[in-house]
Amino acid sequence: MLEASIDQLQQVAERPWQEVPEAVKDGYVIQATGQGAAEMVNRITNEVLPYHGGNIHPRFWGWVQGTGLASDLIAGMAGAVINANTGGRDHGANYMERAVIDWTREKMGMPEGSSGVLVAGTSQATVIAFQAARVRVMPEVRKFGQGSAQLTAYAGEGIHNATRKALELMGIGFENLRLVPLVDGQMDLAALRQQVAQDRAAGAKPFLLVGMAGSVDLGTYDDLNGLADAAAEEDLWLHVDGAFGAWTRIADEPWRSLSDGIGRAGSIALDFHKWMYVGYDCGMVLIADEPAHRAAFAARPSYLEAAERGLAGGDPWFCDYGIDLSRGNRALKVWTALEMYGEEAFGAAISDNCRMASLMAAEVEARPNMRLAASVVSNVCVFTARADLSAEAQSVLNSEIAQALQESGEAVFSTTRAQGVVMLRAAITNHRTREQDITDAIAAVAELAARQV
Ligand SMILES: *Cc1c(COP(=O)(O)O)cnc(C)c1O
Repeated sequence: MLEASIDQLQQVAERPWQEVPEAVKDGYVIQATGQGAAEMVNRITNEVLPYHGGNIHPRFWGWVQGTGLASDLIAGMAGAVINANTGGRDHGANYMERAVIDWTREKMGMPEGSSGVLVAGTSQATVIAFQAARVRVMPEVRKFGQGSAQLTAYAGEGIHNATRKALELMGIGFENLRLVPLVDGQMDLAALRQQVAQDRAAGAKPFLLVGMAGSVDLGTYDDLNGLADAAAEEDLWLHVDGAFGAWTRIADEPWRSLSDGIGRAGSIALDFHKWMYVGYDCGMVLIADEPAHRAAFAARPSYLEAAERGLAGGDPWFCDYGIDLSRGNRALKVWTALEMYGEEAFGAAISDNCRMASLMAAEVEARPNMRLAASVVSNVCVFTARADLSAEAQSVLNSEIAQALQESGEAVFSTTRAQGVVMLRAAITNHRTREQDITDAIAAVAELAARQV
């Protein structure tokens, strides 16, 4: 299995996404009798390894997905044999998780003493952060629920729907998420203040401001310092959705400054499985006010009581900072990646991804009929293959090009709607991408686009 796994990594460029044949899907049905380890190695090599989601390929830029690292293979083996449950107690994985949280906290510029926890991803991190924010303004909410209070939250238009989902789950309701208009891709702070005042006058309880560090559509950033000032003045909890974009903190200029001010947030949600390339799944929530974080989640029945010594020792216990009691060992793969490659390699790869997005933009602009939706800010490039056609025809063509290139294995773009047109979108969070991949992919788009008369 190890040899087949290494082959997979070495030949990753020759193994793009492919459709799963019906026979393979049918073969996944669970058999009544065990087949033994040797047969499983054989079956996994033939029935599992070829049918991945494509995101490990050098020309995959769809949605925002990470590529995985060779270090995951090393960490995965060790992680499997120690089978750590990191909900609490006194063992190595928990010390390692604290080290990972502390490293991240420092990179983000959050104050010492901030707390954090590794989670499945930004979606879960968002729920945890919002609950801490709510408990801060309604200390009794864990006992009695929210009752008839109307809490309101604020985010710029284009915020990822993880914010909306979290508010729905918490019983706050998405109508109480005010979408503030953007000016030049950033939240209009005057409009924000106006909306907050209006809600207060109407008897609502504004509690949460959500900033964007890396929007899904165009990779844009709110003015996070401006948001931090507004949050302080209005007594709102500032949460930053930095799922991928928070990581420009470790990139070169000019990209680093995009996330300036992020360390002033009350909470940050971010992912290691996107722009830190670490294998799925792994996200983190960081919370500046540790007591608020603990107050929102700590609750231990007597069978889980901590002890001064022995296995039941160790403090803090991560089950007091999130939703899960039993938890896997996510820290190990992050720690292994950082220790194996060094943090500079990550900063360089992130900067390089931004350069690749700019190169893609230049390739687009060099072709007379292609057009960018907007200039590239970070790692996201959105464009139409044929600006000379009607909006309707462009949408059909761009969608067809995306599908054709996915099916041929040449490149993976996703699509998004900009200026009323379905456009091709590349979000480059791929450390395997090289210049040639970008130039070849745009040439392939141009060739398909030219066939449309
Ligand atoms: C991916 C993403 C999310 C959701 O994160 P998951 O890790 O998929 O749960 C939230 N916000 C932004 C900006 C994202 O890109």
